[in-house]
Amino acid sequence: ADDLVRAVDRIMRHADGVRRLGVRANADTPQDAARSRRFGAEGIGLCRTEHMFLGDRRQLVEELVLASTAEERRSALDKLEPLQKSDFIGIFQAMEGAPVTIRLIDPPLHEFLPDIVDLSVKIATSRDVTDKDHRLLAAVKRLHEQNPMLGLRGVRLGLVIPGLFAMQVRAIAQAAAEVPGARPEIMIPLVASVQELEAVREEAVRILAETGVEALIGTMIEVPRAALTAGRIAEAAEFFSFGTNDLTQMAWGFSRDDVEASFFSRYLELGIFGVSPFETLDREGVGRLVEIAVREGRAARPDLHLGICGEHGGDPDSVHFCHEVGLDYVSCSPFRIPVARLESGRAALSGGDSDTR
Ligand code: PEP
Ligand code: MG
Repeated sequence: ADDLVRAVDRIMRHADGVRRLGVRANADTPQDAARSRRFGAEGIGLCRTEHMFLGDRRQLVEELVLASTAEERRSALDKLEPLQKSDFIGIFQAMEGAPVTIRLIDPPLHEFLPDIVDLSVKIATSRDVTDKDHRLLAAVKRLHEQNPMLGLRGVRLGLVIPGLFAMQVRAIAQAAAEVPGARPEIMIPLVASVQELEAVREEAVRILAETGVEALIGTMIEVPRAALTAGRIAEAAEFFSFGTNDLTQMAWGFSRDDVEASFFSRYLELGIFGVSPFETLDREGVGRLVEIAVREGRAARPDLHLGICGEHGGDPDSVHFCHEVGLDYVSCSPFRIPVARLESGRAALSGGDSDTR
């Protein structure tokens, strides 16, 4: 068994020696961050912050949603800020000075608010219905969307709820100031236009300047329009990270949430595609969007950092594509890090190199 461990270790070191792609992890907790370090991750490429608003903190989210004045909103955000700060301190500490890309909150709202049916049933049948229940039901109805995945998510939420993104940026900056060597990168989700990004960026730059903390500010490229206008978007972004889960959903027009239940398996049987485009990056369609964004983004900003953080970042064939198109790094779940390192090395050895640099 020792021989085997040594052999695997030798292969991994060989792959690390030849690969050009960096390998980062998708990790949202200090535990996952530490695990990803053990697997050899060189940073976090995607720290999703949505889950940090669940559990006990749901009440604060409800308070935020119910806030009808700027003071009430401020009060809810002021309670969330120190909690977020401690979340980020834990992650920066676990990463020991490696870069950490923190994505500002990107919740499909329906996952965060009470279920409309549960709440209606409670109000209709329970004895201890509060005024808050009524106000929540009104809010949930007001925010109800037919297509939450195409709705009030990501940057849209950040622009619609004043102070929400600012609270997160302040928490990131304060956490970074307390952890020596911390290297935060701030990532804006679901951007479709440079105007959205500019609005958020301006505020983030101001907060960073106030706290004296340096952080790259960049964006996810996960809406087709963002890929198609990458030259403009790169003017306001120091890095791009391809969110190929959403990019695949929107390029194909397939709901991410319904693929298992729907016609997908029939499509596989019919050979419309050999493998799900959510598993292996579809080079002909989604890949073209990535190519366009890489080319136009780098033309506008030669030092633009480019990565991928959709599930494809840990899929062997997709890793080869990422190498060929000239990305700087892939980011994937901690358990897929060894595969990503190995495939990055194989891609470098097989010579399919980028001509976009
Ligand atoms: C993506 O869309 O590829 C992505 C990484 O973001 P999420 O899966 O959180 O939507
Ligand atoms: Mg996404």
